[in-house]
Amino acid sequence: MHRALLIALAAGALALPASAQESHLAAERYDNQKVVRVTPRGIADIQLLERVSGDRWTCGPGGAAGEADYRVREADLRTLDQAGVPYTVIISDVQKLIDEERAGQDPFHDRAFFDAYQNYASVSSYVNTLAATYPSFVTRISLGNSIQNREIFGFRLTSPVPPLGGSPRKPVVFFNSEQHAREWIGVMVDLYIATQFLETYNTNAAVKSLLDTYEFVFVPLSNPDGYNITWTTQRLWRKNARTINGTVRGVDLNRNWGVGWGLDSGSSGSSTSDTYRGSAPFSEPETQILRNYALSVPKLVASIDFHSYSQLVLRPWTYQYTLPPGKAAFDRIGNAMVDAIAAKTGASYEYGGPDILYLASGTAPDWFFGTTGAIGLTIELRDTGLNGFILPTSQIIPSGNDGLAAAIAMVSGLCRADLNRDNFVDDADFVQFASAYDVFLTNSADFSGDGVTDDTDFVYFADGYNQFACP
Ligand SMILES: [Zn+2]
Repeated sequence: MHRALLIALAAGALALPASAQESHLAAERYDNQKVVRVTPRGIADIQLLERVSGDRWTCGPGGAAGEADYRVREADLRTLDQAGVPYTVIISDVQKLIDEERAGQDPFHDRAFFDAYQNYASVSSYVNTLAATYPSFVTRISLGNSIQNREIFGFRLTSPVPPLGGSPRKPVVFFNSEQHAREWIGVMVDLYIATQFLETYNTNAAVKSLLDTYEFVFVPLSNPDGYNITWTTQRLWRKNARTINGTVRGVDLNRNWGVGWGLDSGSSGSSTSDTYRGSAPFSEPETQILRNYALSVPKLVASIDFHSYSQLVLRPWTYQYTLPPGKAAFDRIGNAMVDAIAAKTGASYEYGGPDILYLASGTAPDWFFGTTGAIGLTIELRDTGLNGFILPTSQIIPSGNDGLAAAIAMVSGLCRADLNRDNFVDDADFVQFASAYDVFLTNSADFSGDGVTDDTDFVYFADGYNQFACP
């Protein structure tokens, strides 16, 4: 037998068990592949890139609104040149970045948790450590299992100060990350925020006030199967591990939520697309699990869905350009978050709606806001394209501080007595409160978070009412 063939067979035999066992996905390398930043002249340029690349790195799907980043093979550059598509190469060798990232993961090096990216088992064990170290603050929770039967776990974090008025539970703020598998930095930022909350509760008055008032629920790995694929076979996998006609194709979980689902302007109906929305809203166990948990919470007040990259804070709606109710409140909070990040780390983030990214249909923040009324935001973390998804480990803690500043600013900016979200607490809010109060509704006037509207909520509302202003 020819020697080259023998080597090929041996390599195949070595590769087979891992891919067959994990996901039926072949290991993939990205040697000499580039990421180009394109300024499309029109829809024809976008169509050409979708055809030659098929892997858009900026988080949203197609549209001709502005710049977009695509991964392409070296040979594709000639196609772009011939078509006259305007582009610059922002990453010259994707595999080189991945190799450097792997080298930085040296398991024999003595390092702290936030000095490296962490796999599923390590994240799970870290959550156990938090719960063991801060037993009166942290409770691990299990939300359900993924399509390949991995546990989607999280944890509840609040101070031992009891909820208002004897309620069983404080109002909840929900932070999840990693719906998109290759966006590793989100996992670390989620855990960094929680860790800083715990470590600074006794020394930081703002953090103490937040933890005394609210309960925070963290779900660092919303897509554990996809995450596993990015650690074992394909670093740039984005979707979950849904098998279609015998092949792992995956559904884009952040196109699978029920508000604004199914629009071709912000998702794809083709299972080979990286923004495939699935066969129906909530067709995937991972989105069902997060939805069911959110619906089980008596009073959800705010949520952040962490993604990368682009350094953006995005308000609803993501699926349409129509402005959301309460846009004034979103603007106040979103701008405060951007300012807080700049003050803490110097990083420059931008706040806005779909006009600064792209339309994305069937996303988590649109569902959270549209269904529960909670402030629902997306944060696109670092960087702005120098490394894209393969963010160096030296950026983990600085990114964590971006997220921490944004989280504190968001929750500190909640103005819950401003029921009509016009940024003033006034008579109109009192009327709205009274109508919910009179019938003991469990919706907007439930300030204590116990699922009913009663005297406790009246006291809380009156406290906010007397201030006549939002933070
Ligand atoms: Zn994403």
